[in-house]
Amino acid sequence: MKPQDTYKHQGLRKLLIEELRAKGIRNEAVLKAVGEVPRHFFFDSAFLNFAYADKAFPIGAGQTISQPYTVAFQSDLLKAEPGMKVLEIGTGSGYQAAILAKMGVKVFSVERQRSLFRTAQHILRDLNSTAKVFYGDGYKGLPAFAPFDRVLVTCGAPDMPEALLGQLKPGGIMVVPVGKGESQKMMRILKKDDGSTEVTDHGVFKFVPMLPDKASAG
Ligand code: SAH
Repeated sequence: MKPQDTYKHQGLRKLLIEELRAKGIRNEAVLKAVGEVPRHFFFDSAFLNFAYADKAFPIGAGQTISQPYTVAFQSDLLKAEPGMKVLEIGTGSGYQAAILAKMGVKVFSVERQRSLFRTAQHILRDLNSTAKVFYGDGYKGLPAFAPFDRVLVTCGAPDMPEALLGQLKPGGIMVVPVGKGESQKMMRILKKDDGSTEVTDHGVFKFVPMLPDKASAG
């Protein structure tokens, strides 16, 4: 059943925006989207009270909905503008996809767990979100829809996923948490017009791992 979005939820989102501001998020377009997307729609009804805490939360299949701060931080780093095509790897709950779509971005999001893909698809439909979700292996990206203006990886990649850089337009930006252990470094890669790249490091975050293709994982 579709949940309701009440004044109480809207009030909780205002508080969340203030918390994100206090933690250093300054991007008004991102904060506006946080105010407009009902994060509690992405939670099981038993856990609605947790939806507006600035915390990651389990969404089943051993995965999590990213912490709002992380979603806001990545959305800001991506420097996505309305109308741009963005490839997201790791749909998970669909919340990050919904935030970018609210910002006017054309979102193409890939998830490797079928149950999460289905749930996210339903929720995004309930929200009338323009974000499109695909079931598949993020390491392969979405060649049929490439090239993209931006690529956002929301799971921890053990190594730089080079194939995804190939689906990025010249002048495009990829944001990806890279690291083999418990935590990753948030990397931003700018692909220059001549195809060379410029990489910057934006601090340490913790993501669930980017896993190999189901078929090759056995
Ligand atoms: N963006 C999500 C965060 C999800 S957590 C949100 O807003 O809720 C990361 C997700 O990446 C998990 O759902 C996990 O199943 C998915 N994932 C891991 N490896 C993947 C791969 N190779 N391709 C696509 N998705 C992958």
